[in-house]
Amino acid sequence: MELLNIKEYTKNLKEKMKAQIQKMDKIPVLSIYQVGDNEASNRYVRNKMRDCAEVGIVATIKKYEETVTTDEIMEDIWEDKADGIIVQLPLPKHIDIQRIIRVIPVEKDVDGFKDNSPYMCCTPGGIINYLDACGFHFEGANAVVIGRSEIVGKPMARYLLDRDCTVTICHSKTNRSYLHTLLNWADLVVCAVGKRGVFRASDTDPKTIVIDVGINFDENGKLCGDVINDIDSDHVTPVPGGVGLLTRCQLLANTIEASKRV
Ligand code: NDP
Repeated sequence: MELLNIKEYTKNLKEKMKAQIQKMDKIPVLSIYQVGDNEASNRYVRNKMRDCAEVGIVATIKKYEETVTTDEIMEDIWEDKADGIIVQLPLPKHIDIQRIIRVIPVEKDVDGFKDNSPYMCCTPGGIINYLDACGFHFEGANAVVIGRSEIVGKPMARYLLDRDCTVTICHSKTNRSYLHTLLNWADLVVCAVGKRGVFRASDTDPKTIVIDVGINFDENGKLCGDVINDIDSDHVTPVPGGVGLLTRCQLLANTIEASKRV
């Protein structure tokens, strides 16, 4: 199986979404909540706003000072009339993200963070849809998910299990040599750790599909993933120009879906 070029794949998806929105009775609206002035968050929010503008979704940003309270954000969300509502992470430590997620109505939870959200969680959902488009055969595949966060690792493992993969979840306490044994047997590895060099492409079989979710900076300050692609394998998704684009497209798709429901 060959991996599709993610830039082209997401460009095509966005063109389809734009055409879909042009035929809709109402324009989908997304509200983005951001607290503070974190440089990475600013960049993510800018990208999301640009994506929305490209396909014809109206995106509004609600930006708060660091001193805002959880209750103040909750009150605004409560009154928000948008089709989709997302809260840009990370949030300052004093903000209770769980309470905020609870107050987002389930039909507006386009990040897919709530347990009963009707939408796929953006990063793992974007990955599943991409693998489908590539023709990946899920049933019976040996899948290794590295990382067990609530927003990437766990939902990723659940979606792969739902598609009848045999799934193993690894984390910081996983025995290294066992991890390497798993890598040898894997048909698919999804690495979502946030550390450069979790493993090398040459640690896997040449046919193994490796989805690199991690976002790191190398010693020259250049953006890079978790996986070192030491053999220039075209079975490893690139960073940048990889999973980030899939995540962003899934958010657009979820917002369009939400505007049909609300
Ligand atoms: P978290 O920090 O919440 O989770 C990281 C996970 O990695 C934890 O489960 C941790 O284990 C595990 N881990 C840490 N060290 C190791 C190790 N040496 N070997 C194996 N597992 C390890 O991160 P997120 O899931 O939120 O994000 C992961 C990465 O993906 C980050 O770089 C983030 O920036 C990126 N990301 C990219 C997105 C995109 O769109 N491209 C979207 C979301 C995230 P333990 O539980 O034991 O601590």
